[in-house]
Amino acid sequence: MMKYDLLLINGTIITVDDENRVIPDGYIAVKNQCIAAIGEMKELQGVSDAERVMDMQGHAILPGLIDAHGHGGHCLIRTLGEHYDAQWDAMAEHIYYFCVDEDFWYNEAMLAASERIKFGTTTAVSMIGSTPRVDSIEAVEANLAGSAEVGIRQFSGIGFADGPWPKTARQYKKDGSFVDVKVSLEDAAAVTEASVKELRGKYPRATAIVAPGRMGRRPEMNDEENIFQNKAMARIAGDYGVPLHTHAFGGDVKFMHETSPEVLTPAISLSHSTGYSDEEMDILKETGAFVIHGPTTYSNVMGHCKVVEMLERGINLAVVTDGTAPDRSYDLWRDMKNVQLLQRYRKKDNGFIPCGLALRLVTIEPAKLLGIDYMTGSLEVGKKADIITVNVMQPHLAPFKVMPIQRLVYHAMGQDVDNVIIEGEIVMENRVLTRIDESKIFAEAEKSFDLMLQRLGRKDVLENPNLYSLNQYE
Ligand SMILES: [Zn+2]
Repeated sequence: MMKYDLLLINGTIITVDDENRVIPDGYIAVKNQCIAAIGEMKELQGVSDAERVMDMQGHAILPGLIDAHGHGGHCLIRTLGEHYDAQWDAMAEHIYYFCVDEDFWYNEAMLAASERIKFGTTTAVSMIGSTPRVDSIEAVEANLAGSAEVGIRQFSGIGFADGPWPKTARQYKKDGSFVDVKVSLEDAAAVTEASVKELRGKYPRATAIVAPGRMGRRPEMNDEENIFQNKAMARIAGDYGVPLHTHAFGGDVKFMHETSPEVLTPAISLSHSTGYSDEEMDILKETGAFVIHGPTTYSNVMGHCKVVEMLERGINLAVVTDGTAPDRSYDLWRDMKNVQLLQRYRKKDNGFIPCGLALRLVTIEPAKLLGIDYMTGSLEVGKKADIITVNVMQPHLAPFKVMPIQRLVYHAMGQDVDNVIIEGEIVMENRVLTRIDESKIFAEAEKSFDLMLQRLGRKDVLENPNLYSLNQYE
């Protein structure tokens, strides 16, 4: 008989496999980082033969969630300037280009990975900065190293930032002194390529990808420069076989299709994706390019991403947090509800985005987007053991006898996840991270936050005149 490394028993298993199988009283066995067996309790033999048995009575067992878009750095600028709207991007860029050092990227990555794991996210994507910081590979490396320390499966990337070029970036040394360096378009391409080349596979479960701030037709550039950028980013991603990850808006897809059609493949994912025409949606369907939808983003508030129409056309789509600044959380459970609520509101119909679909949009669909659906995104024999458990013996979830997926999607939140397993390793047990001391992460993050604020020197980003006003609408 095969001796399992880990055996979870007596749980309600939600597989998210092709048949969307739910096993009300089931077990799942882990061997050599992978799922070795899965089935009904009555089929299980040899419980005592496992290295470790976890009794999951009163728990739901699901695949780890996949958050296919967020921003490295944002956990340390959360809420800052949330009253700025149009000026927020410039503030974030200034912070990321002039006020932060390597420790900032590392400490923020630890905080972000901890937050994500504690909400049940086992695979995460981060673009480094708001529009990416692209003067050196150090920020990406620090982000990957900090993430790897916590144990999450991490994809982090840089690429062309928003113009104008050349850009200036302030590089701090350990003693606090700094030099300002100029970054040209050519430098940015070279640094992007170097980051993928040098950091691919350097840290366990963490890898570098290509992630420019926007692709398509950036308004601040001429067509020639845009075509150069789009082709350069796709060329690097293609050469190294990594995902190509970016923001895009109405007009961008058509422009890429007309000027560099080779860019649009299932390996590219386009965040926001608001304002697309019917023609652009046809192009997305035809090419398999992925749409990334963050329901609570400013872009969605303003532009209303046509999620329902895209799904009806068969366009590839994943739901993401786009966390965490200024006003968002890494809790993907919120976004499962938000995408339902906002699309139902937009379409004036309560039937859209059923719960099973909402769950697939944060598990198997983003796994496909990252090209890792062969190894994660669902609970199936042979896949990596990326597993989360939810305690359902709580007032808002019990009794947990019927409609388990609906109960979880409508009622559960990130804090209900109590165990997280990545590649067979328990990285959170009973809501305590196993690899690192959380209080140390908070202390280091606070140091980096204080230093960043001191370098920024602008108290106005903390001051919102409407915050304590009861008379905002008078
Ligand atoms: Zn974003």
